Amino acid sequence: MPLPIEHRVRAAIRDIPDFPTPGIVFKDITPVLADPALMHDVIRAMAEPVRSLGITHVVGIESRGFIFGMPIALELGAAFAPARKPGKLPWKTARESYSLEYGADALEMHLDAVSASGRVLVVDDVLATGGTADAAVRLIRRIGGDVVGLAVLTELTFLGGRARLPGILVESLVRY
Ligand code: AMP
Repeated sequence: MPLPIEHRVRAAIRDIPDFPTPGIVFKDITPVLADPALMHDVIRAMAEPVRSLGITHVVGIESRGFIFGMPIALELGAAFAPARKPGKLPWKTARESYSLEYGADALEMHLDAVSASGRVLVVDDVLATGGTADAAVRLIRRIGGDVVGLAVLTELTFLGGRARLPGILVESLVRY
């Protein structure tokens, strides 16, 4: 019997203490990306819980949300749209600011990234305090999308991020 996906991902994620600042344990997901068989199963496992929810758009959060978001969109037969750091997108944008576990930032999306009837799945690598995902949700709602769920590879449950996302299905493969 192969190990469950949760165990395989947990074994692959590398903890980097005090990166990028003292006191933060950074979850390095690059060993997951380096394993194509594991990545194949990760994408299917992240798509599975939302497969029947009629997702029309996947929004990936810059930058590691892009890596997981695009293949999940292909898996679901949905459109992909990036939520980017300020100043990167070339056309008309909306912006939402947020605070991070380490610092503050903002996200922007093109005004036409999600159609009015769009049912949206937000994707990122790590859910920590939930500030980033919450900003993405506010942004998507402002440009007219209906946020159905958030899919992340891993969730730092001790930071309580999902409490900031009421009414949204939150799916994580590995929880710390
Ligand atoms: P937050 O807004 O606090 O939920 O932080 C989530 C965002 O910051 C995600 O885009 C993650 O990539 C990144 N992040 C926050 N904390 C960590 C961590 N401990 N390890 C890796 N990435 C993190």
